[in-house]
Amino acid sequence: MSERSLVPFDTAIERYDPVLGLEVHVELNTATKMFCGCPTEFGADPNTQVCPVCLGLPGALPVVNAKAVEAAVRIGLALNCSIAERCRFARKNYFYPDMPKNFQTSQYDEPIAFDGFVDVEVEGTDGQPVTVRIEIERAHMEEDTGKSLHVGGSTGRIQGADHSLLDYNRAGIPLIEIVTKTIEVEPALAPLVARAYVAQLRELMVALDVSDARMDQGSLRADVNLSLKPTGSTTLGTRSETKNVNSFRSVERAVRYEVTRHAALLDAGERVVQETRHFHESDGTTSAGREKSDADDYRYFPEPDLAPVAPDPAWVEELRGTLPEAPELRRRRLQGEWGFSDLEMRDTLGAGALDLVAATIDAGVAPQSARKWWLGELARRANDTGTDLAALPITPAQVANVQALIDAGRINDKLARQVFDGVLAGEGTAEEVVAARGLEVVSDDGALGDAVDRAIEANPDVAQKIRDGKLQAAGALIGAVMKEMRGQADAGRVRELILERLG
Ligand code: ADP
Ligand code: MG
Ligand code: ZN
Repeated sequence: MSERSLVPFDTAIERYDPVLGLEVHVELNTATKMFCGCPTEFGADPNTQVCPVCLGLPGALPVVNAKAVEAAVRIGLALNCSIAERCRFARKNYFYPDMPKNFQTSQYDEPIAFDGFVDVEVEGTDGQPVTVRIEIERAHMEEDTGKSLHVGGSTGRIQGADHSLLDYNRAGIPLIEIVTKTIEVEPALAPLVARAYVAQLRELMVALDVSDARMDQGSLRADVNLSLKPTGSTTLGTRSETKNVNSFRSVERAVRYEVTRHAALLDAGERVVQETRHFHESDGTTSAGREKSDADDYRYFPEPDLAPVAPDPAWVEELRGTLPEAPELRRRRLQGEWGFSDLEMRDTLGAGALDLVAATIDAGVAPQSARKWWLGELARRANDTGTDLAALPITPAQVANVQALIDAGRINDKLARQVFDGVLAGEGTAEEVVAARGLEVVSDDGALGDAVDRAIEANPDVAQKIRDGKLQAAGALIGAVMKEMRGQADAGRVRELILERLG
């Protein structure tokens, strides 16, 4: 379909109601894999973290990782799910080179957790907060696949590649897949709800300490299912499934794009194909992947090599006691402690900045300053590079270091931007960047006094006004000094010097 024929989002939702379904895969941070003792560390040399079990060699026998079951139960409880008293693993049969066993050990009709919900908050079309309840169908345990690397093409995709390499280090890493029921919300809010849900799941996983939940590294991945139905209809349309969307912003964009694409197909009387799709960060579009099997094609059957998992109810209750404060309660508490307005809090959440702001405040920064940096300067840079804030190469502690330099009067807000440039470019700590780039504010009276004298000489009218008692006019002279000193003058001291000379 050509770009031209896409129906704008706002037009599409006048005729169609979007229906969403979100599948989120969370890679657990257990030390070892789901069914063997191989380590799970990210970034090791290819195929160095493998054994007969995760390579699927004949005769190898899997064993369930108890820590992964514990994490699954805690995630289930945090999602307000019921926990199965007994559940089994199942084989999901399909061939793909990154899956050496030719089946994925997963759960099918007996997930460990089911029937839960999470409440997310978004900004309604009238600017007021709207709370939307997302129903969770199930959260189940499974294992990750390996990774293919397609070499020689221009896109990194299999099409046009000369050959492909396979790395099985990731094969067998524990995953929890969290699947929602179909979600129907006010059409205009669908993209925001999808984004807010994924952002909230990430927050929850971090709070539970069960995963790094790094979307940029693939330890939290979202598949976005979307279909349209004519406004008011109760019959579901055919869905597309946009796979492995890897930032909050992309989740929102993927929903938006698929609405415009589906609407164009339906308007033209064409059929939506049930298929997986790839999302393209560069232009926010999707393209066709593979046609999607129905569950029957996977020939699921119970895994014969693994005993059923039967979490003891007393243990489940014990784990309930280890849950972190519920995100809604935590948000209310933090908002009160920080004195943020509803709008400030919502923007902070929407930017996926809550934990970053919290950590920055914990590192000693005033709440409004922490918010200002993450939602202003740093959000702009994340946006420019198309990443999430959490993926920027700067930590809350480093932001706190920049603020400490401001508080000490050694740099000002304007210079701080250049310090952020340096820290983000890997030039070292805030302190090192200030030294290397010569960014320190000049408060030495000799240098400042000379610049003040020159400014007075160049602006005699302004100087006269100040002599006549119009002290506001000093701003123009301060500006002139700042300009000459490339923003590096101590503005307070400059003002004092001007008034000393003209007062
Ligand atoms: P699959 O393994 O085929 O992806 P899942 O059950 O794991 O199936 O996930 C399907 C997801 O898509 C669920 O979140 C479900 O609510 C959602 N879904 C199912 N049918 C539709 C539809 N017609 N439109 C939008 N979402 C749908
Ligand atoms: Mg799925
Ligand atoms: Zn292994």
